[in-house]
Amino acid sequence: MKAPRVLKFGGASLSDLDQVVRDVRAARADQRPIVVVASAREGVTDRLTDALAHPRSEARHRSALAAIRVLHPGLSVGGRRHLTRLARLFRLLESGPRADAPLADRVLSQGERLAVDWLAQQLQRAGVPAVPVEADHLGLITDNTYGASCILFDRSGPAVRQGLGRLLRAGQVPVVTGYFGRSLEGRVATLGRGGSDYAAAGIGAILGAERVDLVKRHVAVLSADPNEVPGARPLPELSYEEAEELAQFGARVLHPLTIEPARAHGIVLHVRSLGEPRVETTIGPSQSGRRNRALTVLRPLRLLRLRVPGGRQRPGIVAEVSERLASAKVNLVQLYTSSALLCLVLAPEEVMPGLRALAPLTREAAVMVEGPFRVALVTVIGDGVLSDIDRIPGSVVASAEGFSATPRALSVAVPEEEGPLALRALHRVLVEESLAT
Ligand code: ASP
Ligand code: MG
Repeated sequence: MKAPRVLKFGGASLSDLDQVVRDVRAARADQRPIVVVASAREGVTDRLTDALAHPRSEARHRSALAAIRVLHPGLSVGGRRHLTRLARLFRLLESGPRADAPLADRVLSQGERLAVDWLAQQLQRAGVPAVPVEADHLGLITDNTYGASCILFDRSGPAVRQGLGRLLRAGQVPVVTGYFGRSLEGRVATLGRGGSDYAAAGIGAILGAERVDLVKRHVAVLSADPNEVPGARPLPELSYEEAEELAQFGARVLHPLTIEPARAHGIVLHVRSLGEPRVETTIGPSQSGRRNRALTVLRPLRLLRLRVPGGRQRPGIVAEVSERLASAKVNLVQLYTSSALLCLVLAPEEVMPGLRALAPLTREAAVMVEGPFRVALVTVIGDGVLSDIDRIPGSVVASAEGFSATPRALSVAVPEEEGPLALRALHRVLVEESLAT
């Protein structure tokens, strides 16, 4: 059997069903086995999240259920059972104790279960031998971190290969749920928001796929968020490493864990726009002589300045600060250090726990804390980005609160209100003007 191709359809792309059917048919014309992975239909996961946030609100649950039902006409008998189960889960929320994380993941997983049943029925009607597959039943195993779990590849491999292999050899098109798997404890575990990309890359890696296509409604990967930067343009290609940095620095196009399984197996990811084959970003091994630049902005963030008397005489201070924050489960977004100054960048809700965790230092080591200051983190990603340092506009440098750089990512913390301007200024010199020359 030829290596299969994985086609993942995002929730928004499923709204254009005719195009999805055409896309699947075109891929099948290649005489290659196809595995489809689907997200929940657009808005469904948001509704389920909202229902979980209002566990006692019968009215909200009723309207969510009605809206979700309308999005999934023509379900199979099994598919209709997903709706019944969702109604039952809502009743459980209304009457029972507070939902724990595994119960929340069970609720959230219903969106993808409904989507694959609905999509498989629609594909069948169009003559494609599609079969809905639920990833937890298939044996996609994850760790027990509900809400943000990781796929366990060694544990998942045999069952996923066997289950999907059987369908593929019979000439069928499995339509598999994205977004979740089954935890080591045997419960439903979601991979985090946007996790269907990760599920698709993971399944592709397990099957040794020829390629994995992440099909979006409109855009491929752009050089910046077009809502922030009117001059943003599609990036034709990115290396695995560049794409990984981009996802970590908050570009919402890709789930941050998507890249690693593809990189480990040398599978090229094609992020493309439904029905517009020209708008495509390939993510693969890095090649010399390419210059890609992508920009992101993270905000709102807060910056704390720690002044350390005697700076260099306290060699363990950086470790101590990060250990104290880590043990309070405070996540450091960025850290800038000089000998007597440590600048910490945190999410706003982490400032209070962070300050509490650091309080002993202010007493014992006479560390002085200034801030919190409101900042935005503007990041430029691209192999060889250090060579761009001399092109950073003076206006950005003048207002910078901190700066960090590796050969792949360069980021600047600026006062929050200057974030959008700094982003556009950097995009102008590093993307738009570079193109023109
Ligand atoms: N449906 C999930 C979400 O909206 C997973 C995904 O779309 O990738 O986050
Ligand atoms: Mg979605």
